[in-house]
Amino acid sequence: MIGENILKIKQEIGQKAEFVIVSKTRSIPEIEEAYQTGHKSFAENRVQYLLERYEVLPKDIQWHLIGHLQTNKVKYIAPFIHLIQSVDSLKLLEEINNQAIKNNRVINCLLQIFIAQEETKFGLSEAECIELLNSAIFKSFKNINICGLMGMASFTENKAQVEAEFKSLKSFFDQLKSKYQFQDFEILSMGMSGDYLLAIDCGSNMVRVGSKVFS
Ligand SMILES: *Cc1c(COP(=O)(O)O)cnc(C)c1O
Repeated sequence: MIGENILKIKQEIGQKAEFVIVSKTRSIPEIEEAYQTGHKSFAENRVQYLLERYEVLPKDIQWHLIGHLQTNKVKYIAPFIHLIQSVDSLKLLEEINNQAIKNNRVINCLLQIFIAQEETKFGLSEAECIELLNSAIFKSFKNINICGLMGMASFTENKAQVEAEFKSLKSFFDQLKSKYQFQDFEILSMGMSGDYLLAIDCGSNMVRVGSKVFS
Protein backbone atom coordinates (compact mmCIF):
# COMPACT_ATOMS: atom_id res chain seq x y z
CA MET A 1 0.00 0.00 0.00
CA ILE A 2 2.56 2.57 1.09
CA GLY A 3 4.85 1.49 -1.73
CA GLU A 4 2.05 1.80 -4.29
CA ASN A 5 1.07 5.23 -3.01
CA ILE A 6 4.65 6.46 -3.27
CA LEU A 7 5.00 5.12 -6.80
CA LYS A 8 1.78 6.79 -7.87
CA ILE A 9 2.75 10.15 -6.37
CA LYS A 10 6.22 9.95 -7.94
CA GLN A 11 4.68 9.29 -11.34
CA GLU A 12 2.40 12.31 -10.97
CA ILE A 13 5.19 14.60 -9.88
CA GLY A 14 7.80 13.36 -12.33
CA GLN A 15 10.84 15.64 -12.50
CA LYS A 16 8.83 18.75 -11.69
CA ALA A 17 9.34 18.75 -7.93
CA GLU A 18 11.26 17.11 -5.14
CA PHE A 19 9.04 14.84 -3.08
CA VAL A 20 9.46 14.92 0.70
CA ILE A 21 7.48 12.38 2.71
CA VAL A 22 5.94 13.83 5.85
CA SER A 23 6.28 11.04 8.43
CA LYS A 24 4.85 12.93 11.41
CA THR A 25 2.36 10.85 13.45
CA ARG A 26 3.40 7.64 11.62
CA SER A 27 4.91 4.57 13.26
CA ILE A 28 8.49 3.43 12.78
CA PRO A 29 7.42 0.35 10.75
CA GLU A 30 5.38 2.59 8.44
CA ILE A 31 8.35 4.87 7.87
CA GLU A 32 10.58 1.84 7.30
CA GLU A 33 8.15 0.61 4.69
CA ALA A 34 8.39 3.93 2.88
CA TYR A 35 12.20 3.86 3.18
CA GLN A 36 12.29 0.35 1.66
CA THR A 37 11.05 1.83 -1.62
CA GLY A 38 14.32 3.72 -1.84
CA HIS A 39 12.94 7.02 -0.64
CA LYS A 40 15.36 9.05 1.49
CA SER A 41 13.71 12.44 2.23
CA PHE A 42 11.47 12.59 5.26
CA ALA A 43 10.00 15.47 7.26
CA GLU A 44 8.86 15.87 10.83
CA ASN A 45 7.17 18.84 12.47
CA ARG A 46 8.28 18.30 16.07
CA VAL A 47 11.83 18.11 17.34
CA GLN A 48 11.14 15.40 19.92
CA TYR A 49 9.76 12.97 17.32
CA LEU A 50 12.43 13.89 14.84
CA LEU A 51 15.12 12.93 17.37
CA GLU A 52 13.44 9.64 18.27
CA ARG A 53 13.19 8.67 14.62
CA TYR A 54 16.66 9.85 13.73
CA GLU A 55 18.00 7.55 16.48
CA VAL A 56 16.44 4.34 15.22
CA LEU A 57 16.09 4.79 11.46
CA PRO A 58 18.85 4.46 8.82
CA LYS A 59 21.43 7.23 8.88
CA ASP A 60 21.25 7.97 5.17
CA ILE A 61 17.80 9.53 5.58
CA GLN A 62 17.77 13.26 4.88
CA TRP A 63 15.63 14.82 7.58
CA HIS A 64 13.62 18.00 7.07
CA LEU A 65 12.02 20.02 9.84
CA ILE A 66 8.69 21.57 8.79
CA GLY A 67 7.19 22.71 12.10
CA HIS A 68 7.73 25.68 14.36
CA LEU A 69 11.18 25.48 15.93
CA GLN A 70 11.94 26.93 19.36
CA THR A 71 15.41 28.44 19.72
CA ASN A 72 16.23 26.27 22.74
CA LYS A 73 15.75 23.11 20.62
CA VAL A 74 18.02 24.02 17.71
CA LYS A 75 21.02 22.42 19.40
CA TYR A 76 19.46 18.95 19.27
CA ILE A 77 18.97 18.87 15.51
CA ALA A 78 21.94 20.98 14.42
CA PRO A 79 24.35 18.02 14.09
CA PHE A 80 22.33 16.21 11.42
CA ILE A 81 19.37 18.18 10.03
CA HIS A 82 19.32 18.34 6.22
CA LEU A 83 16.92 21.27 5.74
CA ILE A 84 15.05 23.46 8.23
CA GLN A 85 12.01 24.57 6.23
CA SER A 86 10.31 26.55 8.97
CA VAL A 87 12.58 29.48 9.81
CA ASP A 88 10.32 32.30 10.91
CA SER A 89 12.48 34.81 12.79
CA LEU A 90 15.89 36.47 12.85
CA LYS A 91 16.39 35.28 16.42
CA LEU A 92 15.90 31.68 15.33
CA LEU A 93 18.26 32.11 12.41
CA GLU A 94 20.89 33.53 14.75
CA GLU A 95 20.66 30.46 16.98
CA ILE A 96 20.81 28.11 13.97
CA ASN A 97 23.95 29.93 12.84
CA ASN A 98 25.51 29.60 16.32
CA GLN A 99 24.76 25.89 16.52
CA ALA A 100 25.96 25.35 12.97
CA ILE A 101 29.29 26.93 13.95
CA LYS A 102 29.53 24.63 16.98
CA ASN A 103 28.96 21.63 14.74
CA ASN A 104 31.35 22.91 12.12
CA ARG A 105 28.75 22.78 9.37
CA VAL A 106 26.55 24.97 7.24
CA ILE A 107 22.81 24.44 7.79
CA ASN A 108 20.36 24.67 4.90
CA CYS A 109 17.27 26.77 5.67
CA LEU A 110 14.07 27.88 4.01
CA LEU A 111 12.27 30.97 5.22
CA GLN A 112 8.64 30.21 6.01
CA ILE A 113 6.32 32.82 4.56
CA PHE A 114 2.84 33.35 5.89
CA ILE A 115 0.43 33.13 2.95
CA ALA A 116 -2.78 31.71 4.47
CA GLN A 117 -5.84 33.51 5.70
CA GLU A 118 -5.70 31.69 9.02
CA GLU A 119 -4.18 33.23 12.10
CA THR A 120 -2.83 29.98 13.47
CA LYS A 121 -0.05 29.46 10.96
CA PHE A 122 3.51 30.53 11.62
CA GLY A 123 5.66 32.42 9.18
CA LEU A 124 7.08 35.76 8.16
CA SER A 125 5.13 38.33 6.21
CA GLU A 126 6.78 39.47 2.99
CA ALA A 127 7.79 42.74 4.65
CA GLU A 128 9.30 40.94 7.65
CA CYS A 129 11.18 38.62 5.33
CA ILE A 130 12.72 41.53 3.41
CA GLU A 131 13.61 43.29 6.66
CA LEU A 132 15.34 40.12 7.85
CA LEU A 133 17.31 39.70 4.62
CA ASN A 134 18.39 43.34 4.66
CA SER A 135 19.56 43.35 8.26
CA ALA A 136 23.27 43.68 9.01
CA ILE A 137 23.15 40.80 11.45
CA PHE A 138 21.71 38.47 8.81
CA LYS A 139 24.62 39.28 6.53
CA SER A 140 27.02 38.20 9.28
CA PHE A 141 25.64 34.63 9.42
CA LYS A 142 28.29 32.58 7.68
CA ASN A 143 26.98 29.12 8.58
CA ILE A 144 23.48 29.52 7.17
CA ASN A 145 22.58 28.61 3.61
CA ILE A 146 19.29 30.18 2.55
CA CYS A 147 17.92 27.75 -0.04
CA GLY A 148 14.50 29.26 -0.66
CA LEU A 149 11.01 29.65 0.76
CA MET A 150 8.29 27.48 2.27
CA GLY A 151 4.59 28.26 2.59
CA MET A 152 1.30 26.64 3.52
CA ALA A 153 -1.92 27.62 1.82
CA SER A 154 -5.19 28.13 3.68
CA PHE A 155 -7.05 25.03 4.77
CA THR A 156 -10.03 25.51 2.51
CA GLU A 157 -11.99 23.85 -0.29
CA ASN A 158 -11.74 27.11 -2.21
CA LYS A 159 -9.29 26.17 -4.94
CA ALA A 160 -9.13 29.68 -6.35
CA GLN A 161 -7.96 31.04 -3.02
CA VAL A 162 -5.31 28.34 -2.60
CA GLU A 163 -4.12 28.98 -6.14
CA ALA A 164 -3.90 32.72 -5.51
CA GLU A 165 -1.83 32.11 -2.35
CA PHE A 166 0.56 29.77 -4.16
CA LYS A 167 0.97 32.21 -7.03
CA SER A 168 1.69 35.10 -4.72
CA LEU A 169 4.41 33.06 -2.98
CA LYS A 170 5.90 32.09 -6.34
CA SER A 171 6.05 35.71 -7.39
CA PHE A 172 7.67 36.72 -4.08
CA PHE A 173 10.17 33.88 -4.52
CA ASP A 174 11.10 35.10 -8.01
CA GLN A 175 11.47 38.65 -6.71
CA LEU A 176 13.86 37.60 -3.93
CA LYS A 177 15.79 35.30 -6.21
CA SER A 178 16.63 38.08 -8.63
CA LYS A 179 17.18 40.73 -5.96
CA TYR A 180 19.50 38.87 -3.59
CA GLN A 181 21.09 36.24 -5.84
CA PHE A 182 21.93 33.88 -3.00
CA GLN A 183 23.93 31.00 -4.38
CA ASP A 184 21.48 28.19 -3.58
CA PHE A 185 18.20 30.07 -3.54
CA GLU A 186 16.36 27.46 -5.64
CA ILE A 187 13.71 25.77 -3.50
CA LEU A 188 10.07 26.78 -3.39
CA SER A 189 8.42 24.34 -0.97
CA MET A 190 4.65 24.39 -1.27
CA GLY A 191 1.97 21.74 -1.63
CA MET A 192 0.67 18.96 0.64
CA SER A 193 -1.56 15.89 0.09
CA GLY A 194 -4.61 17.88 -0.95
CA ASP A 195 -2.96 20.43 -3.20
CA TYR A 196 0.47 19.34 -4.42
CA LEU A 197 -0.44 19.15 -8.11
CA LEU A 198 -1.96 22.61 -7.96
CA ALA A 199 1.14 23.84 -6.12
CA ILE A 200 3.41 22.42 -8.83
CA ASP A 201 1.32 24.14 -11.50
CA CYS A 202 1.88 27.37 -9.56
CA GLY A 203 5.67 26.92 -9.51
CA SER A 204 6.43 24.72 -6.52
CA ASN A 205 9.50 22.52 -6.86
CA MET A 206 9.29 20.76 -3.50
CA VAL A 207 6.15 19.11 -2.13
CA ARG A 208 5.60 17.78 1.40
CA VAL A 209 3.16 14.89 1.35
CA GLY A 210 2.04 12.88 4.38
CA SER A 211 -1.49 11.48 4.54
CA LYS A 212 -1.64 10.49 0.88
CA VAL A 213 1.48 8.33 1.31
CA PHE A 214 0.24 6.50 4.37
CA SER A 215 -3.49 6.14 3.64
C1 LIG B 1 1.53 17.87 8.10
C2 LIG B 1 2.23 18.77 7.18
C3 LIG B 1 2.33 18.47 5.80
C4 LIG B 1 1.72 17.22 5.18
O1 LIG B 1 0.34 17.25 5.24
P1 LIG B 1 -0.55 16.12 4.52
O2 LIG B 1 -1.84 16.78 4.28
O3 LIG B 1 -0.62 14.98 5.48
O4 LIG B 1 0.13 15.74 3.26
C5 LIG B 1 3.04 19.35 5.00
N1 LIG B 1 3.60 20.46 5.49
C6 LIG B 1 3.52 20.79 6.78
C7 LIG B 1 4.18 22.05 7.24
C8 LIG B 1 2.83 19.97 7.67
O5 LIG B 1 2.75 20.30 8.95
